[in-house]
Amino acid sequence: MKLSKYYMPTLREVPADAEIPSHQLMLRAGMIRSLSAGIYSYLPLGYRVIRKVEQIVREEMDRSGALEVLMPAMQVADIWKESGRWEEFGPLMVRFKDRNEREYCLGPTHEEVIADIVRDEVRSYKDLPFNLYQIQTKVRDEIRPRFGLMRAKEFIMKDAYTLDCDEDGLDKAYQNMYDAYVRVFERCGLDTRVVEADSGAMGGSGSHEFMVLADSGEDDLAFCSECDYAANVERAEAALEISSVSPAADNPADSSLAANVSAEASTVADGPAEVSAGNSDYSPAEATTSEAEIEKVHTPDATTIEDLVDMIEVSPGKMIKTMAYIADDQPVVALVRGDDQLNEVKFRNYLGAIELRPAHPDEFSEKFGSVAGFIGPVDLPENIRIVADRRIQELDKAVTGANEKDYHLVNVNPHRDIAKIEAFTELRTVQAGDPCPRCGGSLEIKSGIEVGHIFKLGTKYSSNMGATYLDENGKAQPIVMGSYGIGITRVAAAAVEQHHDDRGIVWPLPLAPFQIIILPLGNSDEVDWAAEELYKELQEAGLEVLLDDRDERAGVKFNDAELIGIPLRITIGSRSLENDEFEVQIRRTGKDFNIDRSSACSKIEKLLEEIE
Ligand SMILES: [Zn+2]
Repeated sequence: MKLSKYYMPTLREVPADAEIPSHQLMLRAGMIRSLSAGIYSYLPLGYRVIRKVEQIVREEMDRSGALEVLMPAMQVADIWKESGRWEEFGPLMVRFKDRNEREYCLGPTHEEVIADIVRDEVRSYKDLPFNLYQIQTKVRDEIRPRFGLMRAKEFIMKDAYTLDCDEDGLDKAYQNMYDAYVRVFERCGLDTRVVEADSGAMGGSGSHEFMVLADSGEDDLAFCSECDYAANVERAEAALEISSVSPAADNPADSSLAANVSAEASTVADGPAEVSAGNSDYSPAEATTSEAEIEKVHTPDATTIEDLVDMIEVSPGKMIKTMAYIADDQPVVALVRGDDQLNEVKFRNYLGAIELRPAHPDEFSEKFGSVAGFIGPVDLPENIRIVADRRIQELDKAVTGANEKDYHLVNVNPHRDIAKIEAFTELRTVQAGDPCPRCGGSLEIKSGIEVGHIFKLGTKYSSNMGATYLDENGKAQPIVMGSYGIGITRVAAAAVEQHHDDRGIVWPLPLAPFQIIILPLGNSDEVDWAAEELYKELQEAGLEVLLDDRDERAGVKFNDAELIGIPLRITIGSRSLENDEFEVQIRRTGKDFNIDRSSACSKIEKLLEEIE
């Protein structure tokens, strides 16, 4: 391809609203353009990358035995009502009506369509198993689309669905897809980790995420330093180890929680692990035998953990943090230790709630009979569900809000004083340094970008939608399903996050829009002719070549070549031609050297084999 006839509108400046490298660089490299927030056009250079990701995914899906189909993007509401997800998906789903007032959505995923396709056709166990996949545009009305292709409203996804007779079949199909995914990301040149994941609204019994490690990743992942335990922190658990808890070194306050939630919005990074000297009777051994009376103490303006630490000499680990939430319009309360962070995903999963949000300040008196900043679990109104993290049950002589402005309660024993705790369960977010649930080793936290997600769905959709088959005894059984996604456009963005430098993108060779870029420099017919000749020769050898034949200065050509991240650059100038040589530079290493003009093509083919 010749750049003089190409459409590659590069930008010198970093666009103001682009926050992360992939968004900035893909805009600057003229690969994508935004139509409106979260909605993108893929321009020629960007679309070549997307097509490469698609092709790798397609080849590995085909190799795994999956069959490619294309399902409608426009789906009728009826099937979503049958599965029970018309309500469940909430505002994330784009809904509309046709001229006859019939309800539709733009498919955010296709489990329902798959169940509909098979329910009238699959009759017997002999028709199973099989696996259908598609590569298609999906639409989700993200509340805050940002980060370019990383979280867009419209994106390209590969989704596959396995259909089996039983759990054994599903386990095999799942493993087969798992292996295919490992191959896909390896072929894309991405450093990925597989982690145990939360199945969220999908339901089902098992789930893994494939994560690209990158600083800009939106997901936090917990890794064990000793064994191969790895999980999304949405799901990760730490071994229960009450007696030697130490606050994490890097544990920023969770900014997504309302600042007014009692004793929240406070970082306890450097807090003492246990109560200060002189209070040694706060040992776990005595936890359940305390007789100390509950007492109300005056704590003027102490609305955060830090305020309290200063005022009444108690460690964060002895405080009961009371988090007021509204779950599907009902007031609920979560209790976690003052040195822990509430994990909203775990809380929502426990409650089985569709929507969960922190209570607004004005709801504290109205719905909780309390006051923001001083809410506590003792004597809350009867209708409020109270759920406690399991680390709460070991506490004694704890401190918590008194539901009265400027007062806290001390000597609180959760078992004695909070009668209405309906469960002690896992609610906290794991922290760096926590003990691994498998081996007790130390957990590390890293950020990652989710590029693939696989689910064992089981029979949720087939049961609700009547997708059954007749088993060997002629008895109707629900088809057992699995669902497997890869964010195609997100893979491209994640590749940029993992592979860039201060000059631009450094594409892994398998995803690069072109393998080679030729830069003829200076005004010379001889140079132009040599460039043209090499261009043709490389093309005939089946290589993907971009020829920068634009009438531009050398600096512009060099900058653009680095920005768009072509793995191999060949520079042709009058001086090197005199020696019958071309200059070659490898984008990733910056290594440059000369090659003989006469054997250039074979030398370049060889170099491409060596480049990763
Ligand atoms: Zn471990």
